Amino acid sequence: MSYSVSPIGFVRSCFKEKFAIPRQPHLAPAARGVLELVAPFNNGDAVQGLEQVSHVWLLFLFHQALEEQPRLKVRPPRLGGNQSVGVFSTRATHRPNGIGQSVVRLDKVEDGRLWLSGIDLLDGTPVLDIKPYVPYADSVPDAVNGIAASAPELIEVTWQPAALLQAQQHAQRLGEALVELIEQCLAQDPRPAYQQPTPERRYGARLWDVDVQWHYPKPGSICVLAVVPSVE
Ligand code: SAM
Repeated sequence: MSYSVSPIGFVRSCFKEKFAIPRQPHLAPAARGVLELVAPFNNGDAVQGLEQVSHVWLLFLFHQALEEQPRLKVRPPRLGGNQSVGVFSTRATHRPNGIGQSVVRLDKVEDGRLWLSGIDLLDGTPVLDIKPYVPYADSVPDAVNGIAASAPELIEVTWQPAALLQAQQHAQRLGEALVELIEQCLAQDPRPAYQQPTPERRYGARLWDVDVQWHYPKPGSICVLAVVPSVE
């Protein structure tokens, strides 16, 4: 038996590539995006009442991780990438039906658009449904998860002075909290756990319309080297 679903909208996100997107929502509160609804949901009726809600669940498609053959076991980055566990015990992107879910802050609803922050979604992500977060039902204070017991440990992020200036200038141009976004994303240490970076090795990721470049001057520490306009 099969069912078909169609997107109710698409996310325009600060994240233009998968690398360096936090592994869950809320980890980078400065990560912003806009959910643009498509017809017939974009005329205001479908979102009436949402202005009374601070957070929403988004159900979406991992459209850049869809696979023909479902995986039964995955190696979550959370476990260092070398330990295999059942797909349903993780929030891995490679999963049957490719469905993701995130609770994100709803900053504003206007003209068939939802302004979101704290997102972990790639630009262009197709959204299948929106549901209001219901605190009394969705928050479970005594919940236990032995695989992901607490938020990932943060690492130190420092700046080359010129890179900080570049980020501040782009932040002003974009009208976005770019310095905070970079710090919050890099503090999650986006590098795959199995890689032991040398100080010479450069890493990069695209946020909004800029390329952020960094390296690891010593283990457990990131230094931002440059924030430059990205070349398409
Ligand atoms: N909060 C969601 C969940 O639990 O279903 C997503 C968790 S998943 C581990 C988060 C990762 O999904 C991000 O770090 C990013 O690399 C990836 N991702 C986000 N949007 C995606 C998309 N549209 N297609 C493929 N991968 C995506």
